[in-house]
Amino acid sequence: MTIHHPKTALEAVTLRKKLADTAVYLSGGTDDLRLGGSAEGKELIDINGLDEKFDTITVREGKVWIGARCTLQQIVKSELIPAFIRESAAFCASFARRNSATIGGNVALRRSDSYMAAALTAAEAVLDTITPHGEEEKAIGEYLKSDCKCLIRYIVVDQSRTGFVKRFGNTSSSHAALIAAHSGNVYALSVSGSVFAYGSSPELGKSMTFADDITGSAAYKKYLAETVFTLGR
Ligand SMILES: Cc1cc2nc3c(=O)[nH]c(=O)nc-3n(C[C@H](O)[C@H](O)[C@H](O)COP(=O)(O)OP(=O)(O)OC[C@H]3O[C@@H](n4cnc5c(N)ncnc54)[C@H](O)[C@@H]3O)c2cc1C
Repeated sequence: MTIHHPKTALEAVTLRKKLADTAVYLSGGTDDLRLGGSAEGKELIDINGLDEKFDTITVREGKVWIGARCTLQQIVKSELIPAFIRESAAFCASFARRNSATIGGNVALRRSDSYMAAALTAAEAVLDTITPHGEEEKAIGEYLKSDCKCLIRYIVVDQSRTGFVKRFGNTSSSHAALIAAHSGNVYALSVSGSVFAYGSSPELGKSMTFADDITGSAAYKKYLAETVFTLGR
């Protein structure tokens, strides 16, 4: 693998566009640098040495700006962030991984058992990003449904947002079968093996397709998805 060290966010995103499918950003490296990780044979664009660090959590006019390079552990510890989003970051049970994995990396991976996707989507988080054409704001739900390769700089949420998030898995360290979140008028479901879903109805699960996998049967996940919002926590 080759490592590139751009100095600005714009340089990083432009380089990724130029290198196309062979490149990934290197943030915490917990996914890319693990054995069999996606970086094998690829070009790594290190975003840890950028002039702007994107590793702070600040509040401006009622919105929390969470730097994409903040670790999941920083999220768990920050009292500035709505409680159900902090709870979501704590779904990463390994302290070592929580202390290295970044929120930007976790969102960008778009995993079907994503720790953060459901809570941030229910919170109607907005991504402050850089594309080769400049700065762009993106609704997180739309970003998760796309294959956009922009660089996330900040994840922005209303500080007063309240909601709930619930995880179902065999153990705290296993991959989750389902993570459900609800806040305001938004319901979101990350289900292992299914396409990420969100919308304004608690009956969201009824239109989803489920698959058997190591986390549980399709029937089990369908039952959870169809009852989690009506039964509540
Ligand atoms: C053993 C193990 C089990 C795991 N289980 C789970 C799980 O159950 N649920 C779950 O959600 N995750 C799980 N993960 C994934 C883990 O949470 C991710 O590795 C981590 O969140 C990614 O963050 P990172 O900073 O290490 O990303 P990196 O490994 O540095 O990068 C990962 C990807 O994110 C992209 N990226 C990174 N930062 C940005 C940015 N700022 N803007 C745009 N793209 C960016 C990169 O291009 C790359 O494709 C697991 C990982 C391991 C090693």
